[in-house]
Amino acid sequence: MTPTELARETLLTLAARKLPPTPENYQRVYDEIGEFPAPVAPLSAPLLARMELLPGAIDLAPRFSRLQQQIERQQWDEAADQLLELMQMLIEQQLAGQDWSALLRGLIRAWDMPLAVTQSHKRDTLDRVLASRGARPAQLYDKLQGLVSSWSMGAAVQSADGDLLFDAIDAVPAAGGAATEASPAVQACLAALREALTLGVHPRLAGYPELQHELVQLAQGLDSGERDEDLVMVSRRLKRFWIRLELATQQDERLTTAITRILDLLLENLVDFIGSDAHVQGQISAVRALLADSPVSMRKLYQVEAGLKEAVYRQGLLRHSLDEATDSMRHMLDSFIHRVSLLSENTDEYQTRFSGYAEAINASRDPLALHGIVDSLMADTRAVHLDLVNARDELVDARLQVGVVNERIRQLESELVEASARVKEDQLTGALNRRGLDELFSRESDRAQRERSPLSLALIDIDNFKQLNDHYGHLVGDDALRHVVSVVQSRVRPSDGVARFGGEEFIILMPGTDAESGCEIIERLQRELTKTFFMAHEDHVVITFSAGVARWMPGENELDLIERADHAMYKAKVGGKNQVMLAPDVLPTLD
Ligand code: GH3
Ligand code: MG
Ligand code: MG
Repeated sequence: MTPTELARETLLTLAARKLPPTPENYQRVYDEIGEFPAPVAPLSAPLLARMELLPGAIDLAPRFSRLQQQIERQQWDEAADQLLELMQMLIEQQLAGQDWSALLRGLIRAWDMPLAVTQSHKRDTLDRVLASRGARPAQLYDKLQGLVSSWSMGAAVQSADGDLLFDAIDAVPAAGGAATEASPAVQACLAALREALTLGVHPRLAGYPELQHELVQLAQGLDSGERDEDLVMVSRRLKRFWIRLELATQQDERLTTAITRILDLLLENLVDFIGSDAHVQGQISAVRALLADSPVSMRKLYQVEAGLKEAVYRQGLLRHSLDEATDSMRHMLDSFIHRVSLLSENTDEYQTRFSGYAEAINASRDPLALHGIVDSLMADTRAVHLDLVNARDELVDARLQVGVVNERIRQLESELVEASARVKEDQLTGALNRRGLDELFSRESDRAQRERSPLSLALIDIDNFKQLNDHYGHLVGDDALRHVVSVVQSRVRPSDGVARFGGEEFIILMPGTDAESGCEIIERLQRELTKTFFMAHEDHVVITFSAGVARWMPGENELDLIERADHAMYKAKVGGKNQVMLAPDVLPTLD
């Protein structure tokens, strides 16, 4: 085959194999068709690939491609010269921008700063840097710069306004050399940075007017930053700005922690003060549990807020009824006391009248007059009797009513306690919510530890729930969740806890149950659920779930246990859903 035929055949083969016509592909196919021996893998390709990753190499791209061509054409002399030249340029590039005298000045200033970082620490770190990087100037330069910043940073955190630090940053040298215009790529980056600062950062600094002001000036500085030395200034100011921002946010974090601590302390005191008022206790412990959860998650905040609002609303209603019941009892007692006092007044009056009759009887000798006195006596006696009977009836009646009102008050009070317990319930399904589960877990794991009894946890996730939601609508989806909870609650033991873990995921905590029995219970539950159809509009829908069951290892925390169950549940999903998997006692490291 002539070289021309060979070349044509190579191109046709490349096309037939749908290979891109790169020089390497061409060479390989050409050698294959011409049956030339495969060349020994040259050193040039891996060498070039690694050199191109070196800092600064990107600016030397044209030289790299020239070197590549020379290697491909096997122009070894030219390639060697090119390589040496490239290496020289890379070294120069790495050294460019390193103003050692300014760096050393910065180092001395930071060394002399009296605050925060001790001299012995400075000496140690400097020693270490010199020992490890002393022979590599480019890295040494970077490391020393890092030292200057960190020593100065320590000082700035201690100093009131951080000016020392900013002096130190200013002392860090700028890139040397003559002023040069920024390239279009740099300008595009600057524009993006300006946008990020003004649109992204500025609105988030609403609480820091001074920082906002500084940011505006910074962004303006970016407009004028068209020359390299301006850019160096801008980057210094940016650094200064970030440090100020960090100091400010550190301050905020400290404030939040302090306020959280005070609130917790206040609540702790309040608990002692409130004593047996169970409904308020419930709410306080919900808020304290939230505060103890660090960092406080938004999801939990919303959950506790919703629970508290519900409890406050219900308590408002109940309080009203309770006040009414108490008022009516007070009213009854008032009228009873009034009645009794009237009775005693009447009795006094009768007393006087009876003694009058006795005197008249003693004094009278006239039978007719005596007859009249006896008549009056009889009438008064009847009246006294009537008064007494009335008073007794009223007394009995009042006693009955007091009993009724007392019973009502007792009932209202227990409803009040129950309303507070709902803080632990999921509003939609009535299952425990996360807080309820946390409490139950802590109780049951303590008990399991104490009694050395087993404890298992199942995480179940409804299969293809999204389809059901999409097909029948969200409200039917909600009904399905309630249906699942009611089936589960009616089939597990009363000592087992059923909690909603999230969307369509539930947790069943099974005290006194080892993992194997746990699996059997959950499998039985699966069968029960498929037997109990769920009615969605007119359709009988079979709901299935996938589950993972894990046994609690003594000392294990709740989240780790749930994670193991979740892992097993995930295996059940990928294994085809509608199945229960037992979790290994230790979470596998990789799957
Ligand atoms: P898989 O079998 O893999 O578990 O699929 P899936 O569709 O069950 O799971 P996916 O996580 O994709 O979807 C869960 C759906 O549950 C998505 C969400 O809309 C729905 N969901 C979450 N919370 C509620 C809720 O309170 N009510 C209703 N109706 N739907 C909910
Ligand atoms: Mg899910
Ligand atoms: Mg699901």
